Amino acid sequence: MPADPLRVAVHGAAGRMGIRLIQLMAEASDLVLAAAVDRGDHPRLGEDAGEVAGVGRLGVRLAAGLTEPVDVAIDFSTPAASLGFAETCADRSIALVVGTTGYEPEQRRTLEMYAARIPMLISANFSRAVNLLMRLTAEAARILGDAADIEIVERHHRFKKDAPSGTALRLAEIAAQAIGREQLVYGRRGQVGERPRGEIGVHALRTGDNPGEHTVVFGLMGECLELSHRALNRDGFCRGALEAARFLAGRPARLYTMDDLLDATG
Ligand code: NAD
Repeated sequence: MPADPLRVAVHGAAGRMGIRLIQLMAEASDLVLAAAVDRGDHPRLGEDAGEVAGVGRLGVRLAAGLTEPVDVAIDFSTPAASLGFAETCADRSIALVVGTTGYEPEQRRTLEMYAARIPMLISANFSRAVNLLMRLTAEAARILGDAADIEIVERHHRFKKDAPSGTALRLAEIAAQAIGREQLVYGRRGQVGERPRGEIGVHALRTGDNPGEHTVVFGLMGECLELSHRALNRDGFCRGALEAARFLAGRPARLYTMDDLLDATG
């Protein structure tokens, strides 16, 4: 007999990511939308979340809080909102997948504290290909070392609130660890002088409806290596977040990463 579908709550359910998650979940037989949460003043509060997502009635109302029993929750909202939601999940022992980006260091520490009480997987990027890009970036930075000038360029849609993207910051951190330096510079302007060795440049472009592009440039004397990922839509992120929800349900409380998921699922 097939197992009961996993009951999933989506926080930020009326947002770009929330809507696509609900659409993809409607096609999955092992997952069921059990709760859809968004901000208290959202104009569509009280409407059926399936109708908000354009997949027809699902019998779950868009609500301002989580009251239904669920097995796992997925958050794509804002840093401040996700902290309150993480506390609710910790109080109710609900596994939590966090995709929100743009945390201040203090907010990030608070979020991670809840992982002492529940299984929690936080990732600035749920795409498998982007996580491979992260591994390739570490390898390239290690091999090219000081010979290369490393610059990271990201592009996102005009509605994105944080810059640079969480993924660009993670790529910079990975490259910095690999070369043993941490001297990040965010854009350049004016008489900045010659580029210091070991500096890592991070640059954020905001254009149209771009769902996300990241390029890591390794510039050497006489040649250049570029590692690039381009999202064509949000599906890679959403499918990865759903995989993370499946992976997390029933695991012991601790902080998990995409590496744990990729190592477990190949
Ligand atoms: P969005 O603005 O379209 O959606 C955010 C949703 O959160 C909105 O519906 C908004 O009403 C809701 N919200 C705001 N305040 C709230 C509150 N107090 N309580 C409950 N809900 C609240 O944004 P988006 O494009 O869907 O992105 C959401 C987040 O996910 C961003 O931080 C973005 O950078 C991140 N993101 C991560 C990945 C990844 O793979 N990890 C991919 C894409 C986007």
